Parts: sequence; C-alpha cells; structure tokens
Amino acid sequence: MALVNLYSDTQTRPSSAMRKAMAEAEVGDEQRFEDPQVTELCSRVAARRGMEAPLSLPSGTMCNEIAFRLHIRPGGDEAILHRTSHPIIAEAGGPAAFAGAMMQPLDTPKGMFTGEDVRGALRRPGDRYMPRSRLVSVKQTTNMSGGCVWPLEQLRGVVAVAQEHGLRLHMDGARLMKAVVASGVPAAEMTRGFDTAWLDFTKGLGAPLGACLAGSSELIEEAWRYKQMLGGALRQAGIVAAGALYALDHNVERLAEDHANARALAQGLWEIEGVTIDPREIETNIVIFEVDDRDGV
Ligand SMILES: *Cc1c(COP(=O)(O)O)cnc(C)c1O
Repeated sequence: MALVNLYSDTQTRPSSAMRKAMAEAEVGDEQRFEDPQVTELCSRVAARRGMEAPLSLPSGTMCNEIAFRLHIRPGGDEAILHRTSHPIIAEAGGPAAFAGAMMQPLDTPKGMFTGEDVRGALRRPGDRYMPRSRLVSVKQTTNMSGGCVWPLEQLRGVVAVAQEHGLRLHMDGARLMKAVVASGVPAAEMTRGFDTAWLDFTKGLGAPLGACLAGSSELIEEAWRYKQMLGGALRQAGIVAAGALYALDHNVERLAEDHANARALAQGLWEIEGVTIDPREIETNIVIFEVDDRDGV
C-alpha cells in the first residue's frame, strides 16, 4: 500500500536532482562572501523581493529571532502579532530571551488582522505606564490558521497604519511562495513597505535547510552581527544554498499541485460524516479540520 505523508510540508525532502546540484556546488567561505552559491541565492532573492540586501540563514526561526532583535529596543518595546504566530508559539520564548520583546497577541479571525486592528492595539505614545508599540509582524501564509493568503489590500492597510505611527514591519514568509503561487501577486508587491521579510526553502520546496532574510542594507549589516552571535554564520554554505537555488528554479511553480491536492483532500473530508471543514476556505496547502470524537477518533 502506498503511504501518502500529509503530516507537514516540512517533510519534503531533497530529490536526487537537488542532491546532485548540492554535491556539485562550487563553494567558498560564506563569512568572507566567497561562496558563489550563497552570493547567487542572495541576489536572486533580492531581485524577487524588491529588497536591497538579503542574508542567508540556516532556518526560518533564526530569521524571526534576528528580525525581532533588529526591531525591538531594550526598554519595553512591544510587538503586535497574531496569537497563533510562530514567534509566540514555536520559538521557545526566543523573542523574550533574545530581543526582550513584549508581545501583544491579537485574536482576530484566520490569523490575519487589519490596519484598524493594529490601530486598536496601539499603546498611548508617551504614556510611561505602557509598553511602547514598536513592531507589527504578519505571517504570509497564516500556517496554524489554515494557510490563508493575506489579500494585498489588507497588507497595505496594515502597512499604512504602522507607518503612520512610526512602527517597524516584519513579514514571516515561511510560506511566502505559496501565497505568490496561489494569488498571482508577486512577492515584491506583498513585501512592499515591510522593513524585513524572509522566506523558507524547506516548506514544501524540498531543500533540507535554509532561509533568507531581506531588508535594507543598513538593517542587514546589523543582522550580520546577530547571525555571528547565534552561530548562524557558516563556512562552505554553498552546499545548502545550491539546494535552495534548485528549489527556486524547479519547485515553486509546482506548489500549485499541492494546493490542488489540498482542495481535493478537503472536499473528500467534507463528504465524511463527523468531519467539520469548509473546503471553500482552502487557499494553499494547509488543511485543518475537526473530527467528532464520538468514536474515540
Ligand atoms: C516553519 C515556520 C517558521 C520557522 O522556520 P524553520 O525553518 O522551521 O525554523 C517560522 N514561521 C512559520 C510561519 C513557519 O511555518
């Protein structure tokens, strides 16, 4: 019997062609900017993302941690983000430990919020009793809230309110390419106005590790310090970057197949009695449903 693994898109594996590209990659010392694959990967991400300078990192978690450290100043700065966001639920408390961030979790529907929600969460400037509103963080797609794609207008609304109040903006783009494939909106449009944004090469893209954090040259220069601090500065990282480049070249368009499969799965689940799901809500590759536990399932 063939087994289909639906556990997570984190379980995609390097194909033999990707492994071959990795094995044959020309490499150098990444810390000295001498690795041609890492250089190529960064310039490719810069071109796609409309941001000046990207930084290659081993994981998406490190992208979030470094970004929070860049934006949050010691002394009671607060980040506004959804309660189901990765930095709140899955980074071992890193934003508190590493950046000293105060978190204000939002409980808005589907893991998304609006500019007005941000406005409602703002602290009074100059009020010494309150933390200082400093950062807004969004995740595209929404992961634990069902892989929803933030509509461009809604992102623009959040950017507008954040900018009006001098807040920094961060996009957790672990699944950014899925949002791009599902909506047809280019990544550079989605990340416009954001100070930092990143994408992961492991989520459904087949690379064994690797992520890229982008921002202004000034922010990324500072980010290099934290990369060094965390031990994220590598040596012959081209082996890894070659896998990420292979993923960008060969595995992005085919994400559409995952989305179609997810819809087919949701449709099938909807037909089973005792399963609660609305197949019309499936936009990308994440399928979340509820099962009556009357049969002890
Ligand atoms: C997976 C994920 C991360 C962390 O990425 P890793 O590469 O696993 O460290 C961050 N944010 C979201 C939304 C994710 O799904």
